[in-house]
Amino acid sequence: MSNADADSDADAEDGTDPGELRTPIVAVLGHVDHGKTTLLDKIRGSAVTEGEAGAITQHIGATAVPLDVISDLSGRLVDPDDFDLPGLLFIDTPGHHSFSTLRSRGGALADIAILVVDVNDGFQPQTLEAIDILKRTQTPFVVAANKVDTVPGWNPQPDTPIQGSIEAQSDRAESDLNDRLYEIIGQMSDHGFSSDMYWRVQDFRNNIGVVPCSAMTGEGVPDLLAVMMGLSQRYMKEEMSIDTSGPGAGTVLEVKEEQGFGTTIDVVLYDGTVREDDHIVVGGMNEPIVTDVRALLQPRPLAEIRTESRFETVDEVVAAAGIKIAAPGLDDAMAGAPVRVVRDRGEASVIEAVEAELAQFEVETAEEGVVVKADTLGSLEAIADALADAEVPIVRAEVGDVAPRDIAVADTANESRHETILAFNVDVLPDAERRAEETGVSLFEDDVIYQLVEEYEEYVAEIERAQQ
Ligand code: GDP
Repeated sequence: MSNADADSDADAEDGTDPGELRTPIVAVLGHVDHGKTTLLDKIRGSAVTEGEAGAITQHIGATAVPLDVISDLSGRLVDPDDFDLPGLLFIDTPGHHSFSTLRSRGGALADIAILVVDVNDGFQPQTLEAIDILKRTQTPFVVAANKVDTVPGWNPQPDTPIQGSIEAQSDRAESDLNDRLYEIIGQMSDHGFSSDMYWRVQDFRNNIGVVPCSAMTGEGVPDLLAVMMGLSQRYMKEEMSIDTSGPGAGTVLEVKEEQGFGTTIDVVLYDGTVREDDHIVVGGMNEPIVTDVRALLQPRPLAEIRTESRFETVDEVVAAAGIKIAAPGLDDAMAGAPVRVVRDRGEASVIEAVEAELAQFEVETAEEGVVVKADTLGSLEAIADALADAEVPIVRAEVGDVAPRDIAVADTANESRHETILAFNVDVLPDAERRAEETGVSLFEDDVIYQLVEEYEEYVAEIERAQQ
């Protein structure tokens, strides 16, 4: 699976030291119901039933599966001696939330991704959205062609590598599976990706491996883990310089009220360390938030969950990890925004770096247009792109719930077809709902970007038809 030894020799020769590689961060993407949660549960659940419950560590928003457990789960397809990586950190929230927080290089949340596609259902709207984001962020990924066990006449081979499982199928089932896999490979090609069955892929950088698997029976999951490890090792070595001892850098996954701690941020730390009392800068709605860490919180082990708090505090976290940070003044923090530790770099330069990162997300606005509200910066960016493609102007685009002032903006700043709010994965505050009804502002809510934009376009077409 890996040329780790050859790589180390090469590194020694050219004098570059790959240093200590941190755990790669993995996001699981794909259309609703295609099996993202089941796959994550399979990997986590198997890790627990392997009798190594102590070996996997539950983080905030993520689960770390160490190399030796991955090796066991892969049926030894992954040989620990071939890898310098400590394991894999799986982002727990599958789908939109994690993928819309994916960032461009330099501020990446996920290093690699698994795109789950149901072999029966093929590409669906959220598959396409995921592909757009993977393309834009140049995130290496593999396709998990999931639910192979639903092929008619399939003879399940639990937890086995897929080659062995395929050998145990009737010719008919094997040929049905192949038809579906080739359909997926064809769809990948329609979207500009060259892909093939993973065992025929020589170079995962130019070719995307398609791994047939079943999150339900576990067949093919060993192969999936092996491909992920191979991909991580290559990619982390070639493109990531990681200094786990430096000041921490991460991305906000969620902003949450937590009893006893006030507003907290769930953060995926992808570089460096965060310590208790560190001075940090966090991307906020209006300006960067400069504050001090009050507490670093991790979930308590399950056995101790009866204690009064679900969390325990730690003094320090090292990347890659998921951590909840309690600090004063986090109310305006945004999901998808950067978090940086100041330590010895100087506050001004860190603020500047955070501002520069946020500037990448700036949405072009017009005098008139729709109001867009979204759950994360990444999804806001994706919606803005989709609206730009549809030539729909935007008057305001923000992260957060739909509030009465958003209705006011939509109502006053617009000709009739634009008196609209597009809300993606956010709540509508009750007062806002009432204001919308009173003022006749249209409110569209959806958790699929394509659908949200389509609904709006249909609405506009309807108005135009009525005016003719
Ligand atoms: P998500 O929305 O992508 O997270 O999808 P889920 O993991 O919730 O799966 C949706 C449904 O498909 C659930 O009923 C799962 O039990 C089922 N499912 C997921 N993976 C498989 C699989 O490999 N085989 C079969 N037969 N069912 C599956």
